[in-house]
Amino acid sequence: CDYINVIGAGLAGCEAAYQIAKRGIKVRLFEMKPKNYSPAHHLETFAELVCSNSLRSDQLENAVGLLKEEMRMLDSIIMKCADATRVPAGGALAVDRVGFSQKVTELIKGNPDIELINEEVKQLPQEGITIVATGPLTSESLSKSIMELIGEAYLHFFDAAAPIVTFDSINMDKAFRAARYNRGTEDYINCPMNKEEYENFWNELVNAELAEVKDFDREVVFEGCMPVETMAKRGIDTLRFGPLKPVGLIDPNTGSEAYAVVQLRQDNSEGTLYNIVGFQTRLKWPEQKRVFRMIPGLENAEFVRYGVMHRNTFINSPKLLEPSYRMRKNPNIYFAGQITGVEGYVESASSGLVAGINASMQFLGKGDVLFPRTTAIGALSNYISDKNVKDFQPMNVNFGLMEGLGVKIRDKRKKNYEMAQRALQEIRKYCDDRI
Ligand code: FAD
Repeated sequence: CDYINVIGAGLAGCEAAYQIAKRGIKVRLFEMKPKNYSPAHHLETFAELVCSNSLRSDQLENAVGLLKEEMRMLDSIIMKCADATRVPAGGALAVDRVGFSQKVTELIKGNPDIELINEEVKQLPQEGITIVATGPLTSESLSKSIMELIGEAYLHFFDAAAPIVTFDSINMDKAFRAARYNRGTEDYINCPMNKEEYENFWNELVNAELAEVKDFDREVVFEGCMPVETMAKRGIDTLRFGPLKPVGLIDPNTGSEAYAVVQLRQDNSEGTLYNIVGFQTRLKWPEQKRVFRMIPGLENAEFVRYGVMHRNTFINSPKLLEPSYRMRKNPNIYFAGQITGVEGYVESASSGLVAGINASMQFLGKGDVLFPRTTAIGALSNYISDKNVKDFQPMNVNFGLMEGLGVKIRDKRKKNYEMAQRALQEIRKYCDDRI
């Protein structure tokens, strides 16, 4: 077999395909869109961001910020395209959703070493090396084929997406532009609420009607992407200490902080669309319109996309995978992306990067390239393949997964910064001809 198969042109699949092709190896990249779509995908183009348009923090003191920097150093296509299509979002890296996806597609389609095969893969290929990067909503027939291969059922949880509204429909007499603590000026639109408005809103939110979700058996939701109504049900003030936190946001109309603030983040570079931050939801669509329009400034909000919830599947990676994302039992099969239990856009792409490099090394008859736990990228691949992890749950990258410094530094920001510097120094060693 003179090529490597990559199934799925999502965040992980595109990154893996790019990493293989840049090492002079031919890739067959399979993507089922636009013939078939998962329930969360809408765009014809690749590397689609299915919910938020934010790739989260871009600061080195934050583990996902560090992961981004490591990936930039390792020539990640996802980071290159994200940097090129960024929209203002304070200390975070948010992108023009459509522009980002188009840019990745352009680079992948324009690569002479990548052959695009526009079809749904129903059975795992029997020949050659294959990277499975079909995401948390892998199509049904392929899911069955994977289950036969791994010999056990999938694990799963439920993940929700937030609604998007048009800028023109936001009442800017009530809403105001500002970034928290003035970090990155005026990047967010803020809808301030007084106590009465907040309590009325909370009351309607916790009592609103929920949509039926296929196979939704019990509330297995991911903490990092919890539906806003689920969080609200934990207590009347939970949202005010979470996504509706008012601190650091001064309302110019009153000169003070409001009781609660709903933030909206720019969703495209033209600034015509905004998503409601933290408002991933399972409410019925008419209920979303009714309840979210109670937010001051959103009285006439026009929803271009409603929030939805989906079943999100992943494999029991600690039992099945090596830190290279290769299967222990079947060395020709790699998994990458959210299906491995890494959680998040950047984390998914990072696993595609590691799987892509290692599939290439295997193809070329060279040894594995394993990043150590002193790096964010290595900490994540070590976590998903750690046989000692028992109740395996999807995980965002975090400093807790990384090897400690061995010295006590009380100031958390300083400690994280030191860990980040150590990581980047380590990654520099991989930026030579060796890989
Ligand atoms: P995907 O990006 O989903 O890519 C998989 C690709 O494979 C798709 O293009 C799909 O069409 C294709 N495919 C599937 N089956 C087949 C097949 N049989 N043959 C050929 N092609 C196939 N993460 C965040 O960081 N922030 C968020 O806000 C966020 N919100 C989420 C909301 C929802 C509803 C879900 C489900 C997930 C969310 N995630 C979020 C988690 C995760 O980061 C994303 O799912 C991310 O897209 C995963 O990347 P991936 O490359 O693994 O899969």
